[in-house]
Amino acid sequence: MTITDSPLTADEQRVDDLVTELLEKYPPKTTDPVTFLGAQFDAGLAWVHFPVGHGGLGLGPKLQKLINERVFAEGAPSPVARNPIGHGMTGPTVAVWGSEAQKTRYLRPLFTGEEIWCQLFSEPGSGSDFAGLSSRGVKDGDEWICNGQKVWTTLAHLSRWGLLVVRTDPEAVKHAGLTAFVVDMHAPTVETKPLRQMTGEAEFNEVFFTDTRIPDSEMLGKPGDGWRVSLTTLMNERVSIGGGVGPRGSGAIGMAVKLWSDRASDQRDPATKDELMKLYVRAEATRLTNMRAAANAQRGTPGPEGSVGKLAFAENNKDIYSFCVDLLGAQGMLHDSYAFVRPERTMDIATPSKAFLRARANSIEGGTTEVMKNILGERVLGLPGDVRVDKGIAWKDVPRN
Ligand SMILES: Cc1cc2nc3c(=O)[nH]c(=O)nc-3n(C[C@H](O)[C@H](O)[C@H](O)COP(=O)(O)OP(=O)(O)OC[C@H]3O[C@@H](n4cnc5c(N)ncnc54)[C@H](O)[C@@H]3O)c2cc1C
Repeated sequence: MTITDSPLTADEQRVDDLVTELLEKYPPKTTDPVTFLGAQFDAGLAWVHFPVGHGGLGLGPKLQKLINERVFAEGAPSPVARNPIGHGMTGPTVAVWGSEAQKTRYLRPLFTGEEIWCQLFSEPGSGSDFAGLSSRGVKDGDEWICNGQKVWTTLAHLSRWGLLVVRTDPEAVKHAGLTAFVVDMHAPTVETKPLRQMTGEAEFNEVFFTDTRIPDSEMLGKPGDGWRVSLTTLMNERVSIGGGVGPRGSGAIGMAVKLWSDRASDQRDPATKDELMKLYVRAEATRLTNMRAAANAQRGTPGPEGSVGKLAFAENNKDIYSFCVDLLGAQGMLHDSYAFVRPERTMDIATPSKAFLRARANSIEGGTTEVMKNILGERVLGLPGDVRVDKGIAWKDVPRN
């Protein structure tokens, strides 16, 4: 079996042969997920644009789609579902900024889902303005002592490792004084507490660091690189949240079309159909835009097009799931269960009521819709920048509450 109908390029043929070999040696349906994903990583088919020896082959990222189509068609496990923050955000960040030792230590078990990761960026006083964060890291010999609080930390309760950003130089302007580390989430000085969402679940957490010691060797990049490290994570996050390209009519709009089709024929009125079709067109335009962005991506690190996809995904989802609960009438006001659950997955949208409640967070997580619009305005349209009252001022001198 080949991966496309048109003649394969040399790189496509190489990847196709490796996929064939992987599927023959480790048939996904009869191989346990960790063994399969480990073999996929070792074959360089995990993130094909990563370096050889670290889950990739150093090839163009477009080839990953071809790999994924073939392995998923055979029933391969999804590394994203098993480790969403790790696979979509912290893995690509470790690949760009990690030392050889860090890449060797972390990427394989991250891909197999044996070690779950979380992203420790947001703080009670710094979300959109994450570069203004207050958690501190102070050098002590060849270690850093970290103190502070993070918030909204998705899957911290399951995580083995976290990508932590702290302020290591309060004398510098806010973006320049940050440093990124890999932190051991099992350390006794790291405390994780659940935060419950309106779905009833607690996907995310508050995380407290009290004199948490992190060795120099667990820094990503150098002291002061924390902002640039974070941008790698955030750009990947936006693509990870909003850049998916499913089949036409799948995802949220698929749920809406099904609910519409299941209605009795006398309830399928033209006005509601018109509304559904407008939503369908928006969903399809977003899907095609994401396809174009993926096709244009020459390198692994995404640019502002990730923010376009994320913005459209969030606003489409909210409107489509609102339409779904409206279609359900009075039944739409009932929620399946508000039981307090600590989920192992994120963005579980099994039913319309849960999807409606969970989608409210889509325009907040991974950067709010307003912030995405600022990015588009400034970086794509070239409009004047947002007001920045702390420009050129040392972080310690910026007035704050
Ligand atoms: C489900 C979920 C999961 C999350 N998971 C994680 C995670 O794993 N790790 C992590 O670190 N964080 C996580 N977050 C946090 C998320 O990144 C922040 O909530 C987000 O960046 C917004 O920050 P904030 O909540 O502090 O809101 P604020 O920044 O206080 O924003 C409040 C309001 O002001 C608006 N606003 C702010 N600045 C501007 C501006 N310059 N121009 C125009 N409007 C502006 C915002 O759009 C928003 O409407 C998660 C959030 C959610 C909802």
